[in-house]
Amino acid sequence: MIIGVLKETLPGERRVALVPSACLQLSKQGHAVHVEQGAGLAAGFDDAAYQTAGAVVASRSEVIAAAATLIRVAVPSTAEIAEMRGGTSVVSYIYPKRHRNVLDALAAQGVNAFALDAMPRITRAQSMDVLSSQNNLAGYKAVVLGANALGRIFPLMMTAAGTVTPAKVLIYGAGVAGLQAIATAKRLGARIEVSDIRPETKEQVESLGGKFIMVEGLDKVNIEGGYVASVSPEILAKQKEAVEKSLVEADLVITTALVAGGTAPTLITAAQVGKMKRGSVIIDMATEAGGNCELSKPDETVEHNGVTIIGCNNLASSVPTHASELYAKNVTTFLAAVTKPEGFTFDLADEVVAATLVTYNKEVRA
Ligand code: NAD
Repeated sequence: MIIGVLKETLPGERRVALVPSACLQLSKQGHAVHVEQGAGLAAGFDDAAYQTAGAVVASRSEVIAAAATLIRVAVPSTAEIAEMRGGTSVVSYIYPKRHRNVLDALAAQGVNAFALDAMPRITRAQSMDVLSSQNNLAGYKAVVLGANALGRIFPLMMTAAGTVTPAKVLIYGAGVAGLQAIATAKRLGARIEVSDIRPETKEQVESLGGKFIMVEGLDKVNIEGGYVASVSPEILAKQKEAVEKSLVEADLVITTALVAGGTAPTLITAAQVGKMKRGSVIIDMATEAGGNCELSKPDETVEHNGVTIIGCNNLASSVPTHASELYAKNVTTFLAAVTKPEGFTFDLADEVVAATLVTYNKEVRA
Protein backbone atom coordinates (compact mmCIF):
# COMPACT_ATOMS: atom_id res chain seq x y z
CA MET A 1 0.00 0.00 0.00
CA ILE A 2 1.29 3.49 -0.80
CA ILE A 3 0.88 5.71 2.24
CA GLY A 4 0.86 9.47 1.71
CA VAL A 5 1.79 12.19 4.20
CA LEU A 6 0.77 15.75 3.39
CA LYS A 7 1.95 18.97 4.97
CA GLU A 8 -0.62 20.06 7.56
CA THR A 9 -2.49 23.20 6.51
CA LEU A 10 -4.34 24.18 9.70
CA PRO A 11 -2.85 27.48 10.94
CA GLY A 12 -0.52 26.79 13.88
CA GLU A 13 -0.35 23.02 13.30
CA ARG A 14 3.35 22.14 13.44
CA ARG A 15 3.09 18.36 13.75
CA VAL A 16 3.58 15.85 10.95
CA ALA A 17 1.69 12.54 10.88
CA LEU A 18 4.71 10.31 10.19
CA VAL A 19 8.34 10.90 11.17
CA PRO A 20 11.25 9.32 9.24
CA SER A 21 11.73 6.42 11.69
CA ALA A 22 8.06 5.51 11.18
CA CYS A 23 8.61 5.37 7.40
CA LEU A 24 11.28 2.73 8.00
CA GLN A 25 8.88 0.75 10.19
CA LEU A 26 6.13 0.92 7.57
CA SER A 27 8.43 -0.32 4.84
CA LYS A 28 9.13 -3.32 7.09
CA GLN A 29 5.34 -3.88 7.22
CA GLY A 30 5.39 -4.00 3.39
CA HIS A 31 4.17 -0.44 2.66
CA ALA A 32 5.75 2.47 0.77
CA VAL A 33 5.58 6.06 2.04
CA HIS A 34 5.31 9.20 -0.10
CA VAL A 35 5.78 12.52 1.70
CA GLU A 36 4.95 16.05 0.53
CA GLN A 37 7.99 18.31 0.26
CA GLY A 38 8.53 20.18 3.54
CA ALA A 39 5.84 18.22 5.42
CA GLY A 40 8.07 17.59 8.45
CA LEU A 41 10.03 20.85 8.56
CA ALA A 42 8.00 22.54 11.32
CA ALA A 43 8.48 19.43 13.48
CA GLY A 44 12.23 19.27 12.86
CA PHE A 45 12.37 16.62 10.10
CA ASP A 46 13.69 17.68 6.69
CA ASP A 47 13.09 16.05 3.31
CA ALA A 48 16.55 14.45 3.32
CA ALA A 49 15.72 12.60 6.57
CA TYR A 50 12.61 11.10 4.93
CA GLN A 51 14.60 10.12 1.83
CA THR A 52 17.24 8.45 4.00
CA ALA A 53 14.41 6.51 5.64
CA GLY A 54 13.33 5.24 2.21
CA ALA A 55 10.37 7.59 1.61
CA VAL A 56 9.62 9.24 -1.74
CA VAL A 57 9.46 13.05 -1.40
CA ALA A 58 7.14 14.66 -3.96
CA SER A 59 4.71 17.54 -4.56
CA ARG A 60 1.31 17.61 -2.85
CA SER A 61 -0.59 16.66 -6.01
CA GLU A 62 1.83 13.81 -6.75
CA VAL A 63 1.39 12.40 -3.24
CA ILE A 64 -2.42 12.59 -3.48
CA ALA A 65 -2.34 10.91 -6.92
CA ALA A 66 -0.09 8.05 -5.75
CA ALA A 67 -1.37 7.32 -2.24
CA ALA A 68 -4.05 4.76 -1.41
CA THR A 69 -4.05 6.06 2.17
CA LEU A 70 -3.39 9.52 3.57
CA ILE A 71 -2.16 9.84 7.14
CA ARG A 72 -2.77 13.22 8.72
CA VAL A 73 -3.01 15.01 12.03
CA ALA A 74 -5.60 17.83 11.95
CA VAL A 75 -9.27 17.20 11.18
CA PRO A 76 -9.46 17.53 7.36
CA SER A 77 -11.15 20.67 6.06
CA THR A 78 -13.81 20.41 3.38
CA ALA A 79 -11.33 21.94 0.88
CA GLU A 80 -8.81 19.20 1.75
CA ILE A 81 -11.46 16.49 1.42
CA ALA A 82 -12.34 17.85 -2.04
CA GLU A 83 -8.74 17.24 -3.19
CA MET A 84 -8.80 13.56 -2.09
CA ARG A 85 -9.48 10.83 -4.64
CA GLY A 86 -12.57 8.63 -4.21
CA GLY A 87 -11.58 5.22 -2.82
CA THR A 88 -8.68 6.68 -0.81
CA SER A 89 -8.52 5.92 2.90
CA VAL A 90 -7.65 8.60 5.43
CA VAL A 91 -6.36 8.17 8.97
CA SER A 92 -6.64 11.31 11.09
CA TYR A 93 -8.11 13.13 14.06
CA ILE A 94 -11.77 13.61 13.12
CA TYR A 95 -13.82 13.99 16.35
CA PRO A 96 -16.89 12.57 14.58
CA LYS A 97 -19.34 13.77 17.25
CA ARG A 98 -18.30 17.38 16.73
CA HIS A 99 -17.83 17.30 12.95
CA ARG A 100 -20.84 15.83 11.20
CA ASN A 101 -20.13 18.07 8.17
CA VAL A 102 -16.66 16.51 7.81
CA LEU A 103 -18.14 12.99 7.92
CA ASP A 104 -20.73 13.89 5.30
CA ALA A 105 -18.07 15.40 3.03
CA LEU A 106 -15.78 12.35 3.42
CA ALA A 107 -18.63 9.94 2.63
CA ALA A 108 -19.77 12.00 -0.37
CA GLN A 109 -16.20 12.01 -1.70
CA GLY A 110 -16.01 8.20 -1.30
CA VAL A 111 -13.16 8.43 1.22
CA ASN A 112 -12.95 5.68 3.86
CA ALA A 113 -12.00 7.47 7.07
CA PHE A 114 -10.49 6.18 10.31
CA ALA A 115 -10.83 8.56 13.29
CA LEU A 116 -7.87 7.95 15.58
CA ASP A 117 -9.62 9.90 18.33
CA ALA A 118 -12.35 7.23 18.37
CA MET A 119 -9.90 4.49 19.43
CA PRO A 120 -11.51 2.14 21.96
CA ARG A 121 -10.07 2.29 25.46
CA ILE A 122 -8.95 -1.31 25.58
CA THR A 123 -5.53 -2.58 26.62
CA ARG A 124 -4.64 -3.76 23.10
CA ALA A 125 -5.27 -0.27 21.68
CA GLN A 126 -3.34 1.71 24.31
CA SER A 127 -0.29 2.06 22.07
CA MET A 128 -2.52 3.32 19.21
CA ASP A 129 -4.22 5.99 21.31
CA VAL A 130 -3.36 9.46 20.01
CA LEU A 131 -5.52 11.14 22.67
CA SER A 132 -3.27 9.69 25.36
CA SER A 133 0.04 10.42 23.63
CA GLN A 134 -0.85 13.97 22.65
CA ASN A 135 -2.83 15.01 25.75
CA ASN A 136 0.00 13.81 27.97
CA LEU A 137 2.37 16.26 26.25
CA ALA A 138 -0.30 18.98 26.32
CA GLY A 139 -0.72 18.55 30.09
CA TYR A 140 3.00 19.11 30.59
CA LYS A 141 3.04 22.15 28.31
CA ALA A 142 0.01 23.74 30.04
CA VAL A 143 1.95 23.92 33.30
CA VAL A 144 5.03 25.39 31.59
CA LEU A 145 2.83 27.98 29.86
CA GLY A 146 1.04 28.80 33.12
CA ALA A 147 4.30 29.13 35.04
CA ASN A 148 5.55 31.53 32.39
CA ALA A 149 2.40 33.67 32.52
CA LEU A 150 2.37 33.96 36.33
CA GLY A 151 4.00 36.83 38.13
CA ARG A 152 5.16 34.46 40.86
CA ILE A 153 7.16 31.26 41.15
CA PHE A 154 5.96 27.76 42.05
CA PRO A 155 8.17 26.46 44.89
CA LEU A 156 8.54 27.39 48.55
CA MET A 157 11.74 29.41 48.85
CA MET A 158 13.32 30.53 52.08
CA THR A 159 15.84 33.24 51.36
CA ALA A 160 17.62 35.96 53.34
CA ALA A 161 15.24 38.43 51.68
CA GLY A 162 12.17 36.58 52.88
CA THR A 163 10.10 33.47 52.36
CA VAL A 164 8.11 32.80 49.20
CA THR A 165 5.13 30.49 49.66
CA PRO A 166 4.34 27.78 47.07
CA ALA A 167 1.95 28.60 44.24
CA LYS A 168 -1.54 27.12 44.45
CA VAL A 169 -2.52 25.22 41.33
CA LEU A 170 -6.09 24.03 40.75
CA ILE A 171 -6.69 21.43 38.04
CA TYR A 172 -10.11 20.49 36.64
CA GLY A 173 -10.08 17.01 35.13
CA ALA A 174 -7.65 14.25 36.09
CA GLY A 175 -7.56 12.37 32.80
CA VAL A 176 -4.42 11.97 30.74
CA ALA A 177 -3.68 15.72 30.44
CA GLY A 178 -4.68 16.54 34.02
CA LEU A 179 -2.55 13.79 35.57
CA GLN A 180 0.51 14.94 33.62
CA ALA A 181 -0.23 18.53 34.68
CA ILE A 182 -0.32 17.41 38.34
CA ALA A 183 2.99 15.58 37.99
CA THR A 184 4.65 18.55 36.25
CA ALA A 185 3.34 21.19 38.67
CA LYS A 186 4.41 18.97 41.58
CA ARG A 187 7.94 18.72 40.21
CA LEU A 188 8.05 22.54 40.10
CA GLY A 189 7.02 22.70 43.76
CA ALA A 190 3.38 23.87 43.61
CA ARG A 191 0.53 22.86 45.94
CA ILE A 192 -2.08 21.12 43.85
CA GLU A 193 -5.81 20.65 44.24
CA VAL A 194 -7.87 18.70 41.73
CA SER A 195 -11.52 18.27 40.82
CA ASP A 196 -12.81 15.40 38.68
CA ILE A 197 -16.15 13.65 38.64
CA ARG A 198 -14.87 10.12 37.90
CA PRO A 199 -14.50 8.65 41.39
CA GLU A 200 -11.49 6.47 40.49
CA THR A 201 -9.41 9.60 39.83
CA LYS A 202 -9.20 10.35 43.59
CA GLU A 203 -6.58 7.66 44.16
CA GLN A 204 -4.65 8.61 41.00
CA VAL A 205 -4.55 12.28 42.04
CA GLU A 206 -3.39 11.42 45.56
CA SER A 207 -0.69 9.08 44.30
CA LEU A 208 0.81 12.04 42.41
CA GLY A 209 0.73 14.28 45.49
CA GLY A 210 -2.41 16.28 44.65
CA LYS A 211 -5.38 16.95 46.97
CA PHE A 212 -8.68 15.65 45.57
CA ILE A 213 -11.71 17.88 46.11
CA MET A 214 -14.54 15.51 47.03
CA VAL A 215 -18.08 16.02 45.70
CA GLU A 216 -21.12 14.05 46.87
CA GLY A 217 -22.95 11.81 44.38
CA LEU A 218 -20.04 10.90 42.10
CA ASP A 219 -21.27 7.29 42.11
CA LYS A 220 -24.19 8.52 39.96
CA VAL A 221 -22.01 9.92 37.13
CA ASN A 222 -22.53 7.95 33.93
CA ILE A 223 -19.14 6.57 32.73
CA GLU A 224 -18.86 4.70 29.41
CA GLY A 225 -15.62 3.22 28.11
CA GLY A 226 -13.48 5.34 30.48
CA TYR A 227 -15.20 8.62 29.47
CA VAL A 228 -17.75 10.72 31.33
CA ALA A 229 -20.86 10.09 29.18
CA SER A 230 -23.23 12.37 31.05
CA VAL A 231 -23.53 14.19 34.35
CA SER A 232 -26.56 15.77 36.00
CA PRO A 233 -26.84 19.54 36.59
CA GLU A 234 -27.23 18.75 40.33
CA ILE A 235 -23.79 17.15 40.52
CA LEU A 236 -22.24 19.98 38.50
CA ALA A 237 -23.82 22.47 40.93
CA LYS A 238 -22.41 20.54 43.92
CA GLN A 239 -19.01 20.44 42.26
CA LYS A 240 -19.09 24.19 41.64
CA GLU A 241 -19.79 24.81 45.31
CA ALA A 242 -17.09 22.40 46.49
CA VAL A 243 -14.40 23.90 44.24
CA GLU A 244 -15.23 27.59 44.72
CA LYS A 245 -12.88 28.20 47.69
CA SER A 246 -9.91 26.61 45.90
CA LEU A 247 -10.70 28.61 42.75
CA VAL A 248 -10.76 31.92 44.58
CA GLU A 249 -7.41 31.15 46.24
CA ALA A 250 -5.66 29.64 43.18
CA ASP A 251 -2.70 31.24 41.41
CA LEU A 252 -2.92 28.97 38.37
CA VAL A 253 -5.99 27.06 37.16
CA ILE A 254 -5.71 24.45 34.42
CA THR A 255 -8.91 23.05 32.94
CA THR A 256 -8.93 19.81 30.95
CA ALA A 257 -12.51 18.55 31.42
CA LEU A 258 -14.14 16.81 28.48
CA VAL A 259 -17.28 14.72 28.07
CA ALA A 260 -17.01 11.77 25.64
CA GLY A 261 -15.87 13.66 22.54
CA GLY A 262 -18.74 16.17 22.78
CA THR A 263 -19.03 19.74 24.05
CA ALA A 264 -16.91 20.52 27.12
CA PRO A 265 -18.75 21.38 30.35
CA THR A 266 -18.68 25.02 31.51
CA LEU A 267 -17.04 24.79 34.93
CA ILE A 268 -15.90 28.38 35.60
CA THR A 269 -18.41 31.19 35.08
CA ALA A 270 -17.60 34.85 34.41
CA ALA A 271 -18.89 35.67 37.91
CA GLN A 272 -16.42 33.19 39.43
CA VAL A 273 -13.53 34.68 37.44
CA GLY A 274 -14.58 38.01 38.98
CA LYS A 275 -13.90 36.54 42.46
CA MET A 276 -10.40 35.22 41.58
CA LYS A 277 -7.15 36.87 42.68
CA ARG A 278 -5.63 39.59 40.51
CA GLY A 279 -2.58 38.15 38.72
CA SER A 280 -3.97 34.63 38.64
CA VAL A 281 -3.98 32.68 35.38
CA ILE A 282 -6.43 30.21 33.81
CA ILE A 283 -5.21 27.84 31.09
CA ASP A 284 -8.30 26.43 29.38
CA MET A 285 -7.25 23.32 27.45
CA ALA A 286 -10.80 22.50 26.38
CA THR A 287 -11.44 25.49 24.09
CA GLU A 288 -11.48 23.31 20.97
CA ALA A 289 -14.54 21.59 22.48
CA GLY A 290 -16.18 24.84 23.59
CA GLY A 291 -14.08 25.58 26.68
CA ASN A 292 -14.40 24.99 30.44
CA CYS A 293 -14.34 28.70 31.30
CA GLU A 294 -17.15 30.95 30.13
CA LEU A 295 -14.71 33.72 29.17
CA SER A 296 -12.03 31.75 27.33
CA LYS A 297 -11.53 32.06 23.59
CA PRO A 298 -9.80 29.46 21.38
CA ASP A 299 -6.11 30.25 20.98
CA GLU A 300 -6.53 33.73 22.47
CA THR A 301 -5.51 35.36 25.72
CA VAL A 302 -8.13 37.53 27.42
CA GLU A 303 -7.95 39.56 30.65
CA HIS A 304 -10.82 39.91 33.08
CA ASN A 305 -10.48 41.77 36.39
CA GLY A 306 -6.72 41.16 36.41
CA VAL A 307 -7.10 37.44 35.65
CA THR A 308 -5.37 36.18 32.49
CA ILE A 309 -7.34 33.51 30.63
CA ILE A 310 -5.38 31.60 28.00
CA GLY A 311 -7.39 29.41 25.60
CA CYS A 312 -5.31 26.57 24.16
CA ASN A 313 -6.64 24.52 21.31
CA ASN A 314 -3.60 22.55 20.45
CA LEU A 315 -0.80 22.51 22.98
CA ALA A 316 0.67 19.25 21.63
CA SER A 317 1.51 21.15 18.44
CA SER A 318 3.74 23.47 20.48
CA VAL A 319 6.09 20.52 21.12
CA PRO A 320 5.92 19.21 17.54
CA THR A 321 9.00 17.00 17.52
CA HIS A 322 8.00 14.74 20.40
CA ALA A 323 4.31 15.02 19.54
CA SER A 324 4.95 13.87 15.95
CA GLU A 325 7.22 11.03 17.10
CA LEU A 326 4.58 9.68 19.48
CA TYR A 327 1.71 10.27 17.02
CA ALA A 328 3.64 8.41 14.30
CA LYS A 329 4.28 5.51 16.69
CA ASN A 330 0.53 5.33 17.43
CA VAL A 331 -0.18 5.32 13.68
CA THR A 332 2.33 2.60 12.80
CA THR A 333 0.99 0.37 15.58
CA PHE A 334 -2.56 0.99 14.34
CA LEU A 335 -1.60 0.23 10.73
CA ALA A 336 0.19 -2.96 11.78
CA ALA A 337 -3.07 -4.11 13.40
CA VAL A 338 -5.52 -3.20 10.65
CA THR A 339 -3.68 -3.60 7.34
CA LYS A 340 -2.03 -6.26 5.23
CA PRO A 341 0.75 -5.23 2.79
CA GLU A 342 -1.91 -4.76 0.07
CA GLY A 343 -4.20 -2.52 2.16
CA PHE A 344 -6.74 -2.20 4.98
CA THR A 345 -8.62 -5.31 6.11
CA PHE A 346 -11.84 -3.32 6.86
CA ASP A 347 -12.60 -6.24 9.20
CA LEU A 348 -15.57 -4.93 11.15
CA ALA A 349 -15.37 -7.87 13.55
CA ASP A 350 -12.20 -6.23 14.89
CA GLU A 351 -13.13 -3.84 17.72
CA VAL A 352 -10.41 -1.38 16.71
CA VAL A 353 -11.66 -1.18 13.10
CA ALA A 354 -15.33 -1.07 14.10
CA ALA A 355 -14.75 1.85 16.49
CA THR A 356 -12.47 3.97 14.30
CA LEU A 357 -13.91 3.47 10.79
CA VAL A 358 -16.31 6.42 10.59
CA THR A 359 -17.02 6.50 6.84
CA TYR A 360 -16.97 3.45 4.58
CA ASN A 361 -18.23 2.82 1.04
CA LYS A 362 -19.81 6.28 0.83
CA GLU A 363 -21.68 5.84 4.12
CA VAL A 364 -21.29 7.51 7.49
CA ARG A 365 -20.86 4.86 10.23
CA ALA A 366 -20.31 7.08 13.31
P1 NAD B 1 -11.18 13.03 28.70
O1 NAD B 1 -10.23 13.77 27.82
O2 NAD B 1 -12.43 12.51 28.13
O3 NAD B 1 -11.58 14.00 29.90
C1 NAD B 1 -10.61 14.63 30.70
C2 NAD B 1 -11.02 14.52 32.13
O4 NAD B 1 -12.11 15.42 32.38
C3 NAD B 1 -11.51 13.14 32.57
O5 NAD B 1 -10.74 12.70 33.67
C4 NAD B 1 -12.97 13.38 32.95
O6 NAD B 1 -13.39 12.56 34.02
C5 NAD B 1 -12.90 14.83 33.38
N1 NAD B 1 -14.19 15.52 33.51
C6 NAD B 1 -15.33 15.40 32.79
N2 NAD B 1 -16.28 16.21 33.29
C7 NAD B 1 -15.73 16.87 34.35
C8 NAD B 1 -16.19 17.83 35.28
N3 NAD B 1 -17.43 18.30 35.26
N4 NAD B 1 -15.32 18.27 36.22
C9 NAD B 1 -14.07 17.82 36.30
N5 NAD B 1 -13.57 16.92 35.45
C10 NAD B 1 -14.39 16.44 34.50
O7 NAD B 1 -10.44 11.83 29.45
P2 NAD B 1 -9.02 11.20 29.14
O8 NAD B 1 -7.97 12.10 29.63
O9 NAD B 1 -8.94 10.87 27.71
O10 NAD B 1 -9.00 9.87 30.01
C11 NAD B 1 -10.08 9.27 30.65
C12 NAD B 1 -9.63 7.93 31.24
O11 NAD B 1 -9.41 6.94 30.25
C13 NAD B 1 -8.34 8.04 32.01
O12 NAD B 1 -8.51 7.38 33.24
C14 NAD B 1 -7.33 7.32 31.19
O13 NAD B 1 -6.31 6.72 31.94
C15 NAD B 1 -8.19 6.29 30.50
N6 NAD B 1 -7.57 5.86 29.23
C16 NAD B 1 -7.52 4.52 28.93
C17 NAD B 1 -6.95 4.10 27.72
C18 NAD B 1 -6.88 2.62 27.36
O14 NAD B 1 -7.10 1.80 28.22
N7 NAD B 1 -6.58 2.28 26.11
C19 NAD B 1 -6.47 5.04 26.82
C20 NAD B 1 -6.56 6.40 27.15
C21 NAD B 1 -7.12 6.79 28.36
